[in-house]
Amino acid sequence: MTWIDLLLFFVLFVLFIYIFASVRITSLHKAYLVFHFTMMLWPFCQFAIKMTDDPGVQLFYVKLAFIDSVLLAIGWLLFTILLTSTSHHLRKKNALILYTLAALIILGVIVNPNESFVLPMHGGYIERTYGPIFWLLIIYLTSVVAISLHIIYSALVSNTTQRIKKQVAHVLKGVLVLAAFVLLDVFLNVVLFKSQPVIPGMTSLGILISAIFFVIAIHRDKIFDLVTIAHQDIIDTITQGILVLDDNETVVEINRSLSPKINLQIGDHFDVSTLTPMEQTVSAFRLFLHTYLNQPMERTEVEVFYTSLHAYINITAAPIVVGEIMVGRILTFQDRSELHRLIAETNHQNEILQERNLALIEIQNELSQTNQKLKRMAITDSLTGCYNRHYLTQHLEHEIIENMKFKQPFAIILLDIDFFKTVNDNYGHLVGDVVICSTVEVIKQSLRETDILARYGGEEFIVYLPNTNHTQANRWAEHIKFMIEANKVHVDDIAHSVSITVSMGLLSINNFAEQYTESPTNQLSDLFESVDKALYQAKNAGRNQIVESIR
Ligand code: GH3
Ligand code: MG
Ligand code: MG
Repeated sequence: MTWIDLLLFFVLFVLFIYIFASVRITSLHKAYLVFHFTMMLWPFCQFAIKMTDDPGVQLFYVKLAFIDSVLLAIGWLLFTILLTSTSHHLRKKNALILYTLAALIILGVIVNPNESFVLPMHGGYIERTYGPIFWLLIIYLTSVVAISLHIIYSALVSNTTQRIKKQVAHVLKGVLVLAAFVLLDVFLNVVLFKSQPVIPGMTSLGILISAIFFVIAIHRDKIFDLVTIAHQDIIDTITQGILVLDDNETVVEINRSLSPKINLQIGDHFDVSTLTPMEQTVSAFRLFLHTYLNQPMERTEVEVFYTSLHAYINITAAPIVVGEIMVGRILTFQDRSELHRLIAETNHQNEILQERNLALIEIQNELSQTNQKLKRMAITDSLTGCYNRHYLTQHLEHEIIENMKFKQPFAIILLDIDFFKTVNDNYGHLVGDVVICSTVEVIKQSLRETDILARYGGEEFIVYLPNTNHTQANRWAEHIKFMIEANKVHVDDIAHSVSITVSMGLLSINNFAEQYTESPTNQLSDLFESVDKALYQAKNAGRNQIVESIR
């Protein structure tokens, strides 16, 4: 039955190890706790040795104390390495040597072969002498302490952060005190034990003083609180509002940015419906509320406008889940007003740009219309609306080359109103203009799409008829002559109508046998000259007739 307590102790110890290994504390915390445990174990063993008369139990505690000292040294080293952030010292090879040596020494201590670790005195182990394994152990401990000191020294002279240097300096004091006491203990109580009485508790005292150094260092530098402090800092400096609730909707945490804006304190009950906005976004909020209340495991989000704050707030609610159970919620609040303002401004700017664009397009259209008008004006005659001489010349230069190349027959007719001076003299210039325009209209009605009518001078016109043979040209000229003669021009200002006749010079090109070697410009003036001559002949022959140019 006496073993039940021990069994319970072991079960509890295993539970402690499980919690210790699985909870989320930093490696630094864990290393320190192991280390502290080994520190506590030494004085306990020293006490336990003296509490029993059974040499076997005494030997057990002596061995446990020295195994503990090995663990303490290793713990020390690990703690130093973690504190100085120099985990590269603990590469596989080094670690293997360190742990193998420790294991061998511990084995030696446990087995105590031929009492080469410890020998009893006066039939017990309260007073004892040590064998070579003890001295190996001391060498091991000294070496580990020396390595620790080396790492601490390297950290102090390196360019590591000020914070780490400060921590290391404290730890250095701790380790020096501990080493001093241990060495003093070994020297006085082991080396000189025959010549003077044993002084108890020296190493324990050293451990206590160095532990005090650690505790002071840990408290002053808040080494272990660093992550917690950082988390709190982030939560408090973030512009988003953060509200943490437990599963009863009780407020557990409000960050600094939210607390002045919300009438809640830690411990208050949170009622999500108090967040309902006045108008506008109320329907979106209802949807959020519905998900919040009925599907608490869903993450939900809404953007609402609060008239009182004159702000758009984005609210998110997310469950805090541990193993499939919801243990609380996190709500975040973010002011999106600036974003809304920017979007509105961008939209406004866009509208302005669009308006400007439309205006520009309008101007562009106007410009292109004016351009077209100008182009038309440049090639048309203002009175009659038919092409001007400049256009005719340019167009014909090109046409003639093509006609010659493809042997296409064409005709040119020069036409002049007979006795037009008389019309002007009798009825005035304005009536003269009307007559000119009316004659042009008559000619236009007999033109094909490809024919060209151009004003050549005063009341002289040229008609170019492409793809027209000799017969067709003559027929056309006769038809026009007849139509003009038959045309009675009615003028409002005068009682009767005016009619005129025209004389024509006609040039028909059908024969392409002869080679035209001249330039198009010269060819054209040749053609004009020929047709002009023919017209002259028509005038001389009594007018109102067509004379064909013989070339
Ligand atoms: P002909 O039969 O020999 O051609 O006799 P004509 O009187 O027509 O003589 P000519 O062709 O040499 O004279 C042309 C006249 O036409 C001279 C000018 O006063 C008149 N004229 C020229 N251009 C215009 C115009 O744009 N409007 C008006 N009303 N008269 C014009
Ligand atoms: Mg005339
Ligand atoms: Mg004339």
